[in-house]
Formats: sequence, C-alpha cells, structure tokens
Amino acid sequence: MNTRIVAVTDVRRQQDVLEEAGRILKEGGLVAFPTETVYGLGANGLDGKACAGIYEAKGRPSDNPLILHVANRPMVEHVAAEVPWMAERLMAAFCPGPITLVMRKAPQVPDSITGGLGTVGIRMPDHDVARAMIRAAGVPIAAPSANTSGRPSPTTAEAVYHDLKGKIPLVLDGGACHFGVESTIVDCTGETAVILRPGAVTREMLEEVLGKVDIDPALVDESAIPKAPGMKYRHYAPKVPLTLLEGNPSGMEDAFRKAIEQRQEKHKKVGIIASEETIAAIGGMIPKELLVSYGHRGDLPAIAANIYEALRSFDDADADCLLAEGTDEEELGLAIMNRLHKASGFQSIRV
Ligand code: AMP
Ligand code: MG
Repeated sequence: MNTRIVAVTDVRRQQDVLEEAGRILKEGGLVAFPTETVYGLGANGLDGKACAGIYEAKGRPSDNPLILHVANRPMVEHVAAEVPWMAERLMAAFCPGPITLVMRKAPQVPDSITGGLGTVGIRMPDHDVARAMIRAAGVPIAAPSANTSGRPSPTTAEAVYHDLKGKIPLVLDGGACHFGVESTIVDCTGETAVILRPGAVTREMLEEVLGKVDIDPALVDESAIPKAPGMKYRHYAPKVPLTLLEGNPSGMEDAFRKAIEQRQEKHKKVGIIASEETIAAIGGMIPKELLVSYGHRGDLPAIAANIYEALRSFDDADADCLLAEGTDEEELGLAIMNRLHKASGFQSIRV
C-alpha cells in the first residue's frame, strides 16, 4: 500500500482532504492524524473490524484498549452508558484538551476495542485537524498513538511514516505536536477519580476541580497489577538499552561523568539524552552525534515536547547504550518520568 502524507494547515480551505480522510474512515480504513498530544492512528470506533486493522498495523496486543476520540458533546453521550458527575466537571474544565475520561461504555461500543472491559476511554482533542476529521467521518474515532507498539510515540508526521509506511493509506500532517506526551487518563467510574496515566493535565490541576484524586498504584509500584491491561506492556522503548539517572539535580553532572566512565571502560559507545546544562558539563566525553538535548533543566513543557523525538533520534545512531536525565516528579514531571521509567524498563541510577 502506498502511504501519502498530506499537510493540513487550514481546515476550512482544505475540506477536500478532510472529506477524503472521512471517507476512508467510513469505509473501514485507517488514517493517522495530529492531535495536541501525539499523532493518533484512527479507525471507525463503532466498527470492530476496522479497529482490528489498528491492532494489526501497530502490532498491538489485543487486550490493550483503544481510546475513542469525539468532536463534540453529543458523541460522548453516544458512546458512554452514563456520564458521571466527575466526568461532567472535568469536561467543563479541560475539554477539548489532553485528557481521557474512563466511563461505563454504551452497548454499541464493540468489546474488541475495550480489551473486554465494560468501560471506555473518551477524549475530545484540542486540535482543529483532529476534530474536523472526526466530524467528516461522522463517527467516534478509535485511536491509539500512531507508532509501532512498544516504540516511542510519534510527535511528527515523519515519525508516523517511519513506523507505518506501507500499512496505512493516509497521514494528515499538522506539524509537531504541542504537548508531546499522551493524554492524562482519569478513571471516573468509582467514588474517587483515579489517574491511570499521567499527562499534561496534572494531578494538581485535577485536584483543583475535584478535590481528592488518587493515582493508580501501578504508576508508582512496578509490581502492582494495573487497572488497564495496556499499562503492563513495555512502552516508549528506544532500540538500545536506556538507563535513567534520577534524583538531585545538583548531583546530576557528576553522576553522568561516573556512569559514562564505567561504560566507556567496557568499550561501550554511550548516547546521552539530557538537559542543556548536563550536556555542557559532560560534552567533551562524548562525540557530538551521540549527545541529544531535550531542553533546559526544569523546562518541563519543552522536555515533554522533545522527549519522544530525542528517543527516536537514536534509531540509526551508533550507540550501544543510552543514559537519560530524569526530571522532578511534580506537575508535568510526573508524566515525563512515567514515560522515561517505561522507556528504561525501570533501570535507573539514583542520584
Ligand atoms: P494509547 O492509545 O497507545 O495512548 O493507549 C491507550 C491507553 O489507554 C491504554 O493502554 C490503556 O492504558 C488506557 N485505556 C483505554 N481504555 C481504557 C479503559 N476503558 N479503561 C482503562 N484504561 C483504558
Ligand atoms: Mg501508545
């Protein structure tokens, strides 16, 4: 199959492209599209057979549920059995935006896309191209990230093309994604809201709206059984092993020097993903092409936006192992560290 990438810069003037995307989706095909978080791989969310194509193209395990993307409030009513009060408040505060709300599902949502769960994750993206495409399709769009399963999520159309070339007919190119990490997932089915995946809508922001908010134990304890099946899988992994250096920023540069020396003594070529500050301090130890900055230390929005491209930039690099600098775990840092822990397979050095 030939995969086309079409730039969409103006949804009003480019209705023809959006209508073509809508037609492909209605006919059971797949379209990759930009959102404010990462690129999604979409299919008609009410058509189990169309959604089977998503699992196949990504190589995604069938028990890992898909999020349904909607363009407006009536579509939420169509896929949720009921909208709990917590979801009402969160929608009023954050939708459209980088948040997915888990609710009990309506019968027309196929079991095959929820991993057999009686619930469904619903999200309204804050991106003109995404919402115009959903409107053109006229149905809720099931979409996970548009990467090969297990790889870093794509934040550019080129990254989507790298992973899915030949497997899908169309990629809508909306440029680089604003946030760069996937949506915050909040389970709204219980007494208290529970964060299943941290994202750009932070715990602090949720608590301002709801009062108390819990965090799924699986996010902090590797051995806990996660509530959503998909959370157990290895994620965001670069092609060579990654070790995370986490802890006190003031000890970071010394910790990097030591970790680099230990590896170089064993004749390993070390790649680095770190802050500008760390890179300035250790630069001389590593060839330039194996040094990737993700932004200034503490600039969490920039680090979130750059992290997946940084991981992907080592795809074709001549490195045997990677060392990555952690951030603190407050606010957006919780989402960044969640992705880095998974990318490292929980291999980390305490600083
Ligand atoms: P992705 O689409 O790749 O960002 O992954 C979607 C993730 O959303 C899954 O891996 C699950 O962790 C979560 N998810 C989707 N639907 C549900 C649901 N009904 N209940 C709990 N978690 C869900
Ligand atoms: Mg994903």
